[in-house]
Amino acid sequence: MKDLLILGGGAAGSRAAMLAARAGFSVALIECGAPGGGAVREGYWPYKRLLTDAADLTRGREGFLGLRLLSESHVYCSILKRAQEETEKLAQAHENTMRELGVEIIAGIGRVEDMHDRRYMVSAGDTRIEARRLLIATGSVPFIPNIEGIEELLRSGLIITPKEVLYDKLPRRVIVAGGNIRALQIAAWFASHRSAVILTSDGDNIAEELDADVSRWLKRSLKGIEYLEQTQITAVSGQRVSMTARGGGRSVECDKIVIGAKRCPATRGMGLGGVGVAIENGAIITDLTCHTNLPDVYAAGDVNMRTLSALGAFCEAEACVSNMLGRRAAVAYRALPRIFDCGAMGASVGETEESARAVGYTPVCVKVNIFGRIQEGFVKLIADDKNRLIGAHICGWSGAETVWKLAAMIESSADLSQSARRLHPASVMEDAVQQALLKL
Ligand SMILES: Cc1cc2nc3c(=O)[nH]c(=O)nc-3n(C[C@H](O)[C@H](O)[C@H](O)COP(=O)(O)OP(=O)(O)OC[C@H]3O[C@@H](n4cnc5c(N)ncnc54)[C@H](O)[C@@H]3O)c2cc1C
Repeated sequence: MKDLLILGGGAAGSRAAMLAARAGFSVALIECGAPGGGAVREGYWPYKRLLTDAADLTRGREGFLGLRLLSESHVYCSILKRAQEETEKLAQAHENTMRELGVEIIAGIGRVEDMHDRRYMVSAGDTRIEARRLLIATGSVPFIPNIEGIEELLRSGLIITPKEVLYDKLPRRVIVAGGNIRALQIAAWFASHRSAVILTSDGDNIAEELDADVSRWLKRSLKGIEYLEQTQITAVSGQRVSMTARGGGRSVECDKIVIGAKRCPATRGMGLGGVGVAIENGAIITDLTCHTNLPDVYAAGDVNMRTLSALGAFCEAEACVSNMLGRRAAVAYRALPRIFDCGAMGASVGETEESARAVGYTPVCVKVNIFGRIQEGFVKLIADDKNRLIGAHICGWSGAETVWKLAAMIESSADLSQSARRLHPASVMEDAVQQALLKL
């Protein structure tokens, strides 16, 4: 009997396994894919790696990797190859750490078979494991749009998902469907290699999950991408793609379509309904402590569709293990930063101006622009009518570092007049934050 059984070895599952094993739990982890899981092999890590290289490439094409005078597709393949090699090393390192900590890693598709007396029975192929606690961390799968003949289009390789992008050749003309920040990352990766890129979004805006000012800044900053909002792919015939678009239909030729930046929770066929785990629209329902409706059953990461980010998955995994150890921990979702790195870099935390209005605030917003040699950006802060910070959006290279101070202010509901005085600016970006705080 294990103290903890984890389904899924991605960002959430592997983090929880290491923490729980370190705390003295006997832990088993079932993973149906390759070691390393989704975060290391398909999403967060490889794209971070590729976009870092792409940014270096954009800054100094000539000298990059010593690839002077090579064709674009050579450069592209070399960067992909390097990312694949590093992915393997990282995946192996993760697995080694877990094994050294005594985590039993089982290859197979996990399925919850039974629950009695607060003990859970899970199968993976012919193996049966009994455990006192369960953590479901099976992540998400690409959302497959309703296009006629989609299975055949996926088989032929004309339509691919973010995972296949990492092993494919450089397309000349590519459509990236999805419109969220993940789709923007993929589009930016292709654009940095001079592909003709169209990014479609069925919503009103690109990266709608971010503040509208951030979305506009991203569109301005990222060169070489054509944005089509309120657009859906309706049919694909040969390489001709038909779309319903704002202001009428449109048809374009392309040699690749990337779907799957939009995600669905991976909960199907796992027997969760059978033991009574509450699910809504496919996602496991969890509270702020990452508990499900069943005792000792937790869910973390994309499978609960709360954050769809590796950072969120890590924080949730940490909260799960703390709660298992009896130290009550809740995830501060309202103060959890979203770091966006898609060639243009920045970070957001808390409410956007739009979401603040939607939940009933009358937000007070201040924006301070930053003018820089490499990239222009801004800081936008949002306060409620009680002079408390509820949202912060930072566009520019050091946004990812600066955002944590603002996240702490949001989490502690600090009074803004005190916060501005306590902030000691260490960069141009933090100076802009202080100016914005003083103006609020
Ligand atoms: C293109 C792209 C770019 C991204 N970029 C970023 C970024 O810049 N920053 C960021 O924070 N996040 C990013 N993400 C999101 C991030 O990768 C995910 O939010 C994160 O990986 C979620 O972690 P997870 O543990 O929930 O799922 P995963 O990391 O996907 O792990 C789930 C694991 O469960 C396994 N599994 C599924 N079903 C079963 C089963 N029945 N039995 C056993 N194992 C199973 C899967 O094989 C998988 O390994 C990106 C995602 C994509 C697609």
